[in-house]
Amino acid sequence: MNNMITIGLLGMGTVGASVVKILNNNTNDILQKVGVPVKIKKIMVRQLDKVRSIDVDAEFTTDIDDIINDKEIDIIVEVMGGIIPAKDYIIKALAAGKHVVTANKDVVAKYGQEIFEVAEKSKVDFLFEASVAGGIPIIRPLKQCLAANRISEVMGIINGTTNFMLTKMTNEGLDFDSVLAEAQAKGYAEADPTADVGGFDAARKIAILASIAFGSRVSIDDVYVEGITTISTEDINYAKELGYVIKLLAIAKDDERGIDVRVHPAFIPSKHPLASVHDVFNAIYIKGDAVGETMFYGRGAGGMPTASAVVADIIDVARNIIHNANSRILCTCYTQKSFCPVQNTESPYYIRLLVADKPGVLAAIAGAFGAQQVSLHSVIQKRKVNTSSELVLITYQVSDANLRLAINTIMGMSVVNKVSSVIRVEAENFA
Ligand code: NAP
Repeated sequence: MNNMITIGLLGMGTVGASVVKILNNNTNDILQKVGVPVKIKKIMVRQLDKVRSIDVDAEFTTDIDDIINDKEIDIIVEVMGGIIPAKDYIIKALAAGKHVVTANKDVVAKYGQEIFEVAEKSKVDFLFEASVAGGIPIIRPLKQCLAANRISEVMGIINGTTNFMLTKMTNEGLDFDSVLAEAQAKGYAEADPTADVGGFDAARKIAILASIAFGSRVSIDDVYVEGITTISTEDINYAKELGYVIKLLAIAKDDERGIDVRVHPAFIPSKHPLASVHDVFNAIYIKGDAVGETMFYGRGAGGMPTASAVVADIIDVARNIIHNANSRILCTCYTQKSFCPVQNTESPYYIRLLVADKPGVLAAIAGAFGAQQVSLHSVIQKRKVNTSSELVLITYQVSDANLRLAINTIMGMSVVNKVSSVIRVEAENFA
Protein backbone atom coordinates (compact mmCIF):
# COMPACT_ATOMS: atom_id res chain seq x y z
CA MET A 1 0.00 0.00 0.00
CA ASN A 2 1.49 3.37 -1.08
CA ASN A 3 1.53 5.97 1.67
CA MET A 4 2.41 8.69 -0.84
CA ILE A 5 2.11 9.20 -4.62
CA THR A 6 5.34 10.60 -6.01
CA ILE A 7 5.64 12.55 -9.23
CA GLY A 8 8.46 13.35 -11.64
CA LEU A 9 7.60 16.44 -13.67
CA LEU A 10 9.11 16.92 -17.14
CA GLY A 11 8.96 20.66 -17.87
CA MET A 12 8.13 23.64 -15.67
CA GLY A 13 6.95 26.23 -18.18
CA THR A 14 3.41 27.62 -18.51
CA VAL A 15 1.63 24.34 -17.79
CA GLY A 16 4.25 22.77 -15.50
CA ALA A 17 4.31 25.80 -13.17
CA SER A 18 0.50 25.71 -13.01
CA VAL A 19 0.57 22.00 -12.12
CA VAL A 20 2.88 22.89 -9.21
CA LYS A 21 0.53 25.73 -8.21
CA ILE A 22 -2.57 23.52 -8.15
CA LEU A 23 -0.79 20.77 -6.17
CA ASN A 24 0.40 23.46 -3.69
CA ASN A 25 -2.93 25.32 -3.43
CA ASN A 26 -5.19 22.27 -3.19
CA THR A 27 -2.90 19.89 -1.26
CA ASN A 28 -5.45 18.99 1.37
CA ASP A 29 -8.38 18.49 -1.04
CA ILE A 30 -6.22 16.28 -3.23
CA LEU A 31 -5.11 14.28 -0.17
CA GLN A 32 -8.80 13.73 0.73
CA LYS A 33 -9.65 12.70 -2.83
CA VAL A 34 -6.75 10.28 -3.26
CA GLY A 35 -6.37 9.06 0.34
CA VAL A 36 -2.60 9.74 0.52
CA PRO A 37 -0.47 12.84 -0.23
CA VAL A 38 0.57 13.57 -3.83
CA LYS A 39 4.02 15.15 -4.05
CA ILE A 40 6.42 16.25 -6.77
CA LYS A 41 9.89 14.84 -6.04
CA LYS A 42 11.91 15.80 -9.14
CA ILE A 43 11.52 18.28 -12.01
CA MET A 44 13.37 18.08 -15.32
CA VAL A 45 14.02 21.37 -17.16
CA ARG A 46 16.34 22.59 -19.90
CA GLN A 47 18.06 25.38 -17.93
CA LEU A 48 18.79 24.79 -14.25
CA ASP A 49 19.72 28.44 -13.57
CA LYS A 50 16.47 29.95 -14.92
CA VAL A 51 14.45 31.98 -12.39
CA ARG A 52 11.14 30.18 -11.79
CA SER A 53 7.80 31.93 -11.23
CA ILE A 54 6.85 29.66 -8.34
CA ASP A 55 8.66 28.02 -5.41
CA VAL A 56 8.65 24.27 -5.26
CA ASP A 57 10.21 21.88 -2.80
CA ALA A 58 11.66 19.47 -5.38
CA GLU A 59 15.01 18.54 -6.94
CA PHE A 60 15.73 20.01 -10.38
CA THR A 61 17.60 18.01 -13.01
CA THR A 62 18.37 18.06 -16.72
CA ASP A 63 18.81 14.28 -16.89
CA ILE A 64 15.75 12.15 -17.71
CA ASP A 65 17.41 9.07 -16.19
CA ASP A 66 17.46 10.80 -12.77
CA ILE A 67 13.66 10.61 -12.93
CA ILE A 68 13.04 7.35 -14.78
CA ASN A 69 15.49 5.40 -12.57
CA ASP A 70 14.08 6.82 -9.34
CA LYS A 71 12.20 3.91 -7.79
CA GLU A 72 10.11 6.20 -5.57
CA ILE A 73 8.56 8.01 -8.57
CA ASP A 74 5.16 6.54 -9.52
CA ILE A 75 3.90 9.00 -12.16
CA ILE A 76 5.83 10.93 -14.80
CA VAL A 77 4.04 14.06 -15.98
CA GLU A 78 5.26 15.23 -19.40
CA VAL A 79 4.57 18.95 -19.96
CA MET A 80 7.67 19.88 -21.94
CA GLY A 81 6.04 19.74 -25.39
CA GLY A 82 7.35 18.92 -28.87
CA ILE A 83 7.96 15.47 -30.30
CA ILE A 84 11.70 15.07 -29.76
CA PRO A 85 12.69 14.09 -27.08
CA ALA A 86 9.24 14.04 -25.39
CA LYS A 87 8.02 10.94 -27.29
CA ASP A 88 11.14 8.93 -26.39
CA TYR A 89 10.91 9.98 -22.74
CA ILE A 90 7.24 8.92 -22.57
CA ILE A 91 8.00 5.51 -24.10
CA LYS A 92 11.05 5.01 -21.87
CA ALA A 93 9.04 5.93 -18.78
CA LEU A 94 6.18 3.56 -19.66
CA ALA A 95 8.62 0.74 -20.47
CA ALA A 96 10.20 1.29 -17.05
CA GLY A 97 6.80 0.77 -15.39
CA LYS A 98 6.00 4.43 -14.66
CA HIS A 99 2.48 5.77 -15.24
CA VAL A 100 2.48 8.74 -17.62
CA VAL A 101 0.26 11.83 -17.84
CA THR A 102 0.81 14.23 -20.75
CA ALA A 103 -0.61 17.41 -22.30
CA ASN A 104 1.22 16.76 -25.59
CA LYS A 105 -1.22 16.58 -28.56
CA ASP A 106 1.64 16.34 -31.08
CA VAL A 107 2.92 13.11 -29.55
CA VAL A 108 -0.51 11.60 -28.86
CA ALA A 109 -1.86 12.37 -32.37
CA LYS A 110 1.20 10.93 -34.12
CA TYR A 111 2.41 8.12 -31.86
CA GLY A 112 -0.67 7.19 -29.80
CA GLN A 113 -0.81 3.59 -31.02
CA GLU A 114 2.89 2.88 -30.35
CA ILE A 115 2.65 4.47 -26.90
CA PHE A 116 -0.48 2.51 -25.94
CA GLU A 117 1.23 -0.75 -26.93
CA VAL A 118 4.08 -0.04 -24.48
CA ALA A 119 1.62 1.04 -21.74
CA GLU A 120 -0.39 -2.20 -22.21
CA LYS A 121 2.75 -4.32 -22.01
CA SER A 122 3.86 -2.59 -18.81
CA LYS A 123 0.29 -2.56 -17.38
CA VAL A 124 0.53 1.13 -16.53
CA ASP A 125 -1.74 4.14 -17.10
CA PHE A 126 -1.28 6.62 -19.95
CA LEU A 127 -3.62 9.62 -19.65
CA PHE A 128 -3.77 12.72 -21.87
CA GLU A 129 -6.94 14.72 -21.03
CA ALA A 130 -5.08 18.05 -21.42
CA SER A 131 -3.96 17.28 -24.98
CA VAL A 132 -7.31 18.34 -26.48
CA ALA A 133 -9.11 21.57 -25.59
CA GLY A 134 -7.00 22.34 -22.49
CA GLY A 135 -9.28 22.51 -19.49
CA ILE A 136 -12.44 21.15 -21.13
CA PRO A 137 -13.19 17.60 -20.01
CA ILE A 138 -13.59 15.70 -23.28
CA ILE A 139 -11.33 12.62 -23.46
CA ARG A 140 -12.67 11.10 -20.25
CA PRO A 141 -16.33 11.90 -21.14
CA LEU A 142 -15.84 10.22 -24.54
CA LYS A 143 -14.04 7.17 -23.10
CA GLN A 144 -16.23 6.75 -20.04
CA CYS A 145 -19.39 8.85 -19.60
CA LEU A 146 -20.52 8.39 -23.23
CA ALA A 147 -19.24 4.81 -23.58
CA ALA A 148 -22.81 3.50 -23.94
CA ASN A 149 -23.32 5.42 -27.18
CA ARG A 150 -22.54 4.91 -30.82
CA ILE A 151 -21.09 8.35 -31.59
CA SER A 152 -21.90 9.58 -35.10
CA GLU A 153 -20.49 13.10 -35.00
CA VAL A 154 -17.97 15.27 -33.19
CA MET A 155 -17.82 18.89 -34.27
CA GLY A 156 -15.89 21.58 -32.50
CA ILE A 157 -14.05 24.83 -32.25
CA ILE A 158 -10.79 23.52 -30.82
CA ASN A 159 -8.27 26.22 -31.68
CA GLY A 160 -8.56 29.31 -29.48
CA THR A 161 -6.19 31.48 -31.54
CA THR A 162 -8.21 31.25 -34.76
CA ASN A 163 -11.48 31.63 -32.87
CA PHE A 164 -10.15 34.81 -31.28
CA MET A 165 -9.14 36.08 -34.74
CA LEU A 166 -12.46 35.23 -36.44
CA THR A 167 -14.41 36.75 -33.53
CA LYS A 168 -12.44 40.02 -33.89
CA MET A 169 -12.92 40.04 -37.67
CA THR A 170 -16.68 39.50 -37.19
CA ASN A 171 -17.31 41.94 -34.34
CA GLU A 172 -14.87 44.71 -35.22
CA GLY A 173 -14.58 44.42 -39.01
CA LEU A 174 -10.77 44.07 -38.79
CA ASP A 175 -8.79 42.28 -41.49
CA PHE A 176 -6.81 39.04 -41.15
CA ASP A 177 -3.36 40.64 -40.83
CA SER A 178 -4.31 43.08 -38.09
CA VAL A 179 -6.12 40.46 -35.97
CA LEU A 180 -3.15 38.10 -36.39
CA ALA A 181 -0.81 40.87 -35.16
CA GLU A 182 -3.10 41.41 -32.13
CA ALA A 183 -3.24 37.66 -31.39
CA GLN A 184 0.57 37.58 -31.47
CA ALA A 185 0.84 40.65 -29.22
CA LYS A 186 -1.50 39.00 -26.67
CA GLY A 187 0.55 35.78 -26.72
CA TYR A 188 -2.32 33.74 -28.28
CA ALA A 189 -0.45 33.15 -31.55
CA GLU A 190 3.15 32.03 -31.99
CA ALA A 191 5.67 34.09 -34.01
CA ASP A 192 5.18 31.40 -36.68
CA PRO A 193 1.37 31.06 -36.63
CA THR A 194 1.15 28.30 -39.28
CA ALA A 195 0.04 25.54 -36.88
CA ASP A 196 -2.94 27.63 -35.77
CA VAL A 197 -4.03 29.57 -38.88
CA GLY A 198 -3.18 26.65 -41.18
CA GLY A 199 -5.56 24.38 -39.20
CA PHE A 200 -2.86 21.84 -38.21
CA ASP A 201 -3.23 22.28 -34.44
CA ALA A 202 -6.98 21.59 -34.72
CA ALA A 203 -6.23 18.63 -37.04
CA ARG A 204 -4.07 16.94 -34.39
CA LYS A 205 -6.80 17.38 -31.81
CA ILE A 206 -9.66 16.12 -34.00
CA ALA A 207 -7.55 13.06 -34.94
CA ILE A 208 -7.35 12.23 -31.21
CA LEU A 209 -11.07 12.87 -30.62
CA ALA A 210 -12.20 10.91 -33.70
CA SER A 211 -10.07 7.89 -32.72
CA ILE A 212 -11.74 7.78 -29.31
CA ALA A 213 -15.26 8.65 -30.47
CA PHE A 214 -15.37 6.02 -33.24
CA GLY A 215 -13.16 3.36 -31.62
CA SER A 216 -10.99 3.39 -34.75
CA ARG A 217 -7.48 4.84 -35.21
CA VAL A 218 -7.43 8.20 -37.02
CA SER A 219 -4.01 9.72 -37.58
CA ILE A 220 -3.15 13.30 -38.49
CA ASP A 221 -2.54 12.15 -42.10
CA ASP A 222 -6.18 11.05 -42.35
CA VAL A 223 -7.45 14.58 -41.66
CA TYR A 224 -8.33 16.92 -44.55
CA VAL A 225 -7.06 20.38 -43.56
CA GLU A 226 -7.79 23.93 -44.74
CA GLY A 227 -6.85 26.97 -42.65
CA ILE A 228 -8.34 30.44 -42.33
CA THR A 229 -5.68 32.44 -44.21
CA THR A 230 -7.97 33.16 -47.18
CA ILE A 231 -10.95 34.36 -45.11
CA SER A 232 -11.62 38.02 -45.89
CA THR A 233 -13.73 40.71 -44.28
CA GLU A 234 -16.04 40.50 -47.36
CA ASP A 235 -16.81 36.84 -46.57
CA ILE A 236 -17.36 37.64 -42.89
CA ASN A 237 -19.79 40.43 -43.85
CA TYR A 238 -21.70 38.29 -46.37
CA ALA A 239 -21.95 35.51 -43.77
CA LYS A 240 -23.53 38.00 -41.33
CA GLU A 241 -25.93 39.31 -43.97
CA LEU A 242 -27.05 35.76 -44.84
CA GLY A 243 -27.58 34.71 -41.18
CA TYR A 244 -24.31 32.81 -40.63
CA VAL A 245 -20.97 33.13 -38.87
CA ILE A 246 -17.63 31.80 -40.09
CA LYS A 247 -15.80 29.46 -37.70
CA LEU A 248 -12.79 27.18 -38.09
CA LEU A 249 -14.48 23.84 -37.49
CA ALA A 250 -12.96 20.46 -36.72
CA ILE A 251 -15.44 17.84 -37.89
CA ALA A 252 -15.49 14.06 -37.55
CA LYS A 253 -18.41 11.99 -38.86
CA ASP A 254 -18.91 8.25 -38.95
CA ASP A 255 -21.64 6.94 -41.27
CA GLU A 256 -22.21 4.36 -44.02
CA ARG A 257 -19.66 6.15 -46.27
CA GLY A 258 -16.87 5.69 -43.68
CA ILE A 259 -15.09 8.06 -41.31
CA ASP A 260 -14.86 11.64 -42.56
CA VAL A 261 -12.46 13.87 -40.60
CA ARG A 262 -11.81 17.49 -41.64
CA VAL A 263 -10.69 20.89 -40.43
CA HIS A 264 -11.77 23.89 -42.47
CA PRO A 265 -13.51 27.23 -42.16
CA ALA A 266 -17.27 26.96 -42.52
CA PHE A 267 -20.43 29.03 -42.53
CA ILE A 268 -22.65 27.90 -39.65
CA PRO A 269 -26.15 29.25 -38.96
CA SER A 270 -25.95 32.05 -36.40
CA LYS A 271 -28.50 30.12 -34.27
CA HIS A 272 -26.25 27.03 -34.02
CA PRO A 273 -24.78 26.53 -30.48
CA LEU A 274 -21.20 26.74 -31.85
CA ALA A 275 -21.91 30.18 -33.37
CA SER A 276 -21.97 31.75 -29.91
CA VAL A 277 -18.52 30.43 -28.93
CA HIS A 278 -16.38 33.55 -29.00
CA ASP A 279 -12.79 34.70 -28.45
CA VAL A 280 -10.32 32.08 -27.18
CA PHE A 281 -13.08 29.78 -25.92
CA ASN A 282 -13.44 26.25 -27.31
CA ALA A 283 -16.50 24.06 -27.58
CA ILE A 284 -17.13 20.52 -28.75
CA TYR A 285 -20.51 19.28 -29.88
CA ILE A 286 -21.12 15.52 -29.87
CA LYS A 287 -23.99 13.43 -31.23
CA GLY A 288 -24.58 9.97 -29.73
CA ASP A 289 -27.42 7.54 -30.47
CA ALA A 290 -28.52 7.35 -26.83
CA VAL A 291 -27.61 10.72 -25.37
CA GLY A 292 -28.59 12.81 -28.42
CA GLU A 293 -26.70 16.11 -28.66
CA THR A 294 -24.26 17.29 -25.99
CA MET A 295 -21.86 20.20 -25.90
CA PHE A 296 -18.71 20.84 -23.86
CA TYR A 297 -17.51 24.42 -23.47
CA GLY A 298 -14.61 26.18 -21.78
CA ARG A 299 -11.07 27.45 -21.98
CA GLY A 300 -9.06 25.48 -24.50
CA ALA A 301 -5.63 26.68 -23.37
CA GLY A 302 -3.75 28.64 -20.74
CA GLY A 303 -1.61 27.40 -17.87
CA MET A 304 -4.24 26.88 -15.16
CA PRO A 305 -7.08 25.44 -17.32
CA THR A 306 -4.62 23.01 -18.94
CA ALA A 307 -3.08 22.10 -15.57
CA SER A 308 -6.62 21.48 -14.26
CA ALA A 309 -6.85 18.58 -16.72
CA VAL A 310 -3.28 17.40 -16.01
CA VAL A 311 -3.85 17.30 -12.24
CA ALA A 312 -7.20 15.52 -12.70
CA ASP A 313 -5.31 12.83 -14.62
CA ILE A 314 -2.70 12.66 -11.84
CA ILE A 315 -5.52 12.15 -9.30
CA ASP A 316 -7.06 9.43 -11.49
CA VAL A 317 -3.76 7.55 -11.78
CA ALA A 318 -3.13 8.00 -8.05
CA ARG A 319 -6.54 6.52 -7.20
CA ASN A 320 -5.81 3.61 -9.54
CA ILE A 321 -2.47 3.02 -7.79
CA ILE A 322 -4.15 3.04 -4.37
CA HIS A 323 -6.82 0.57 -5.55
CA ASN A 324 -4.45 -1.50 -7.67
CA ALA A 325 -6.56 -0.78 -10.76
CA ASN A 326 -4.12 0.69 -13.27
CA SER A 327 -4.28 0.11 -17.04
CA ARG A 328 -8.04 -0.54 -16.88
CA ILE A 329 -8.77 1.92 -19.71
CA LEU A 330 -5.99 2.24 -22.28
CA CYS A 331 -6.39 2.21 -26.07
CA THR A 332 -10.08 2.26 -26.99
CA CYS A 333 -9.54 1.73 -30.75
CA TYR A 334 -11.00 -1.77 -31.03
CA THR A 335 -11.51 -1.77 -34.80
CA GLN A 336 -10.25 -0.10 -37.98
CA LYS A 337 -13.01 1.50 -40.02
CA SER A 338 -12.57 2.75 -43.59
CA PHE A 339 -12.35 6.44 -44.45
CA CYS A 340 -14.64 8.53 -46.64
CA PRO A 341 -12.42 10.46 -49.11
CA VAL A 342 -13.01 14.22 -48.98
CA GLN A 343 -14.23 14.17 -52.62
CA ASN A 344 -17.23 12.07 -51.48
CA THR A 345 -18.20 14.37 -48.62
CA GLU A 346 -21.25 16.54 -49.18
CA SER A 347 -22.37 19.94 -48.00
CA PRO A 348 -23.84 23.17 -49.33
CA TYR A 349 -21.20 25.73 -50.38
CA TYR A 350 -20.90 29.53 -50.34
CA ILE A 351 -19.17 30.88 -53.45
CA ARG A 352 -18.15 34.47 -54.21
CA LEU A 353 -17.30 35.42 -57.81
CA LEU A 354 -16.40 38.48 -59.84
CA VAL A 355 -18.07 38.31 -63.24
CA ALA A 356 -18.48 40.51 -66.34
CA ASP A 357 -21.28 43.01 -65.93
CA LYS A 358 -23.41 42.02 -68.92
CA PRO A 359 -26.65 40.18 -69.70
CA GLY A 360 -26.68 36.36 -69.83
CA VAL A 361 -23.73 35.85 -67.44
CA LEU A 362 -25.82 34.48 -64.59
CA ALA A 363 -27.54 31.98 -66.88
CA ALA A 364 -24.14 30.81 -68.23
CA ILE A 365 -22.79 30.30 -64.71
CA ALA A 366 -25.93 28.50 -63.52
CA GLY A 367 -25.60 26.25 -66.60
CA ALA A 368 -21.95 25.38 -65.77
CA PHE A 369 -22.95 24.47 -62.20
CA GLY A 370 -25.97 22.49 -63.46
CA ALA A 371 -23.74 20.42 -65.78
CA GLN A 372 -22.01 19.03 -62.63
CA GLN A 373 -25.31 18.48 -60.73
CA VAL A 374 -24.69 21.55 -58.57
CA SER A 375 -28.02 23.29 -57.90
CA LEU A 376 -28.10 26.83 -56.61
CA HIS A 377 -30.12 27.47 -53.47
CA SER A 378 -29.71 31.25 -53.63
CA VAL A 379 -27.99 33.79 -55.84
CA ILE A 380 -27.38 37.32 -54.74
CA GLN A 381 -26.01 39.95 -57.08
CA LYS A 382 -23.95 42.24 -54.90
CA ARG A 383 -21.85 45.34 -55.42
CA LYS A 384 -19.85 46.48 -58.43
CA VAL A 385 -16.08 46.02 -58.17
CA ASN A 386 -14.46 48.21 -60.86
CA THR A 387 -16.01 46.93 -64.09
CA SER A 388 -17.08 43.56 -62.63
CA SER A 389 -20.17 42.49 -60.70
CA GLU A 390 -19.88 40.47 -57.54
CA LEU A 391 -22.07 37.36 -57.28
CA VAL A 392 -22.66 35.50 -54.03
CA LEU A 393 -24.09 31.99 -54.39
CA ILE A 394 -25.17 29.33 -51.93
CA THR A 395 -25.56 25.83 -53.36
CA TYR A 396 -27.75 22.96 -52.29
CA GLN A 397 -26.03 19.89 -50.80
CA VAL A 398 -23.38 18.79 -53.31
CA SER A 399 -20.38 16.46 -53.32
CA ASP A 400 -16.95 18.02 -52.98
CA ALA A 401 -15.91 16.32 -56.25
CA ASN A 402 -18.79 17.80 -58.30
CA LEU A 403 -18.32 21.23 -56.75
CA ARG A 404 -14.62 21.23 -57.70
CA LEU A 405 -15.36 20.17 -61.30
CA ALA A 406 -17.91 22.99 -61.58
CA ILE A 407 -15.49 25.55 -60.12
CA ASN A 408 -12.76 24.45 -62.56
CA THR A 409 -15.12 24.98 -65.50
CA ILE A 410 -16.27 28.34 -64.17
CA MET A 411 -12.70 29.57 -63.66
CA GLY A 412 -12.09 28.94 -67.37
CA MET A 413 -15.13 30.98 -68.55
CA SER A 414 -14.32 34.27 -70.25
CA VAL A 415 -17.11 36.08 -68.34
CA VAL A 416 -15.64 35.06 -64.96
CA ASN A 417 -12.89 37.38 -63.75
CA LYS A 418 -12.21 35.74 -60.39
CA VAL A 419 -13.48 33.04 -58.02
CA SER A 420 -12.81 34.91 -54.76
CA SER A 421 -14.01 32.36 -52.17
CA VAL A 422 -15.37 28.83 -51.84
CA ILE A 423 -16.42 27.96 -48.27
CA ARG A 424 -18.46 25.01 -46.98
CA VAL A 425 -21.76 25.55 -45.17
CA GLU A 426 -22.19 23.20 -42.19
CA ALA A 427 -25.18 22.26 -40.03
CA GLU A 428 -27.61 23.39 -42.73
CA ASN A 429 -29.92 20.98 -44.48
CA PHE A 430 -30.33 22.17 -48.09
CA ALA A 431 -31.04 18.71 -49.49
P1 NAP B 1 6.62 25.90 -22.18
O1 NAP B 1 6.08 27.05 -21.41
O2 NAP B 1 7.47 26.16 -23.36
O3 NAP B 1 7.48 25.00 -21.14
C1 NAP B 1 8.25 23.92 -21.54
C2 NAP B 1 9.04 23.41 -20.33
O4 NAP B 1 9.70 22.21 -20.72
C3 NAP B 1 10.11 24.36 -19.85
O5 NAP B 1 10.19 24.31 -18.44
C4 NAP B 1 11.41 23.82 -20.46
O6 NAP B 1 12.55 24.02 -19.64
C5 NAP B 1 11.11 22.34 -20.51
N1 NAP B 1 11.78 21.68 -21.63
C6 NAP B 1 11.51 21.83 -22.96
N2 NAP B 1 12.32 21.04 -23.69
C7 NAP B 1 13.11 20.39 -22.82
C8 NAP B 1 14.13 19.43 -22.96
N3 NAP B 1 14.54 19.00 -24.15
N4 NAP B 1 14.72 18.95 -21.84
C9 NAP B 1 14.34 19.39 -20.62
N5 NAP B 1 13.34 20.28 -20.41
C10 NAP B 1 12.75 20.78 -21.50
O7 NAP B 1 5.46 24.93 -22.67
P2 NAP B 1 3.94 24.89 -22.15
O8 NAP B 1 3.17 25.99 -22.77
O9 NAP B 1 3.92 24.73 -20.68
O10 NAP B 1 3.41 23.55 -22.86
C11 NAP B 1 3.73 22.28 -22.36
C12 NAP B 1 2.87 21.22 -23.07
O11 NAP B 1 1.50 21.46 -22.79
C13 NAP B 1 2.98 21.20 -24.60
O12 NAP B 1 2.88 19.86 -25.05
C14 NAP B 1 1.77 21.98 -25.05
O13 NAP B 1 1.32 21.62 -26.36
C15 NAP B 1 0.77 21.55 -24.00
N6 NAP B 1 -0.33 22.48 -23.84
C16 NAP B 1 -0.06 23.77 -23.52
C17 NAP B 1 -1.11 24.67 -23.38
C18 NAP B 1 -0.86 26.11 -23.01
O14 NAP B 1 -1.83 26.88 -22.92
N7 NAP B 1 0.37 26.53 -22.78
C19 NAP B 1 -2.43 24.23 -23.59
C20 NAP B 1 -2.68 22.88 -23.91
C21 NAP B 1 -1.61 22.01 -24.02
P3 NAP B 1 13.11 25.50 -19.28
O15 NAP B 1 12.07 26.10 -18.38
O16 NAP B 1 14.40 25.27 -18.58
O17 NAP B 1 13.24 26.21 -20.59
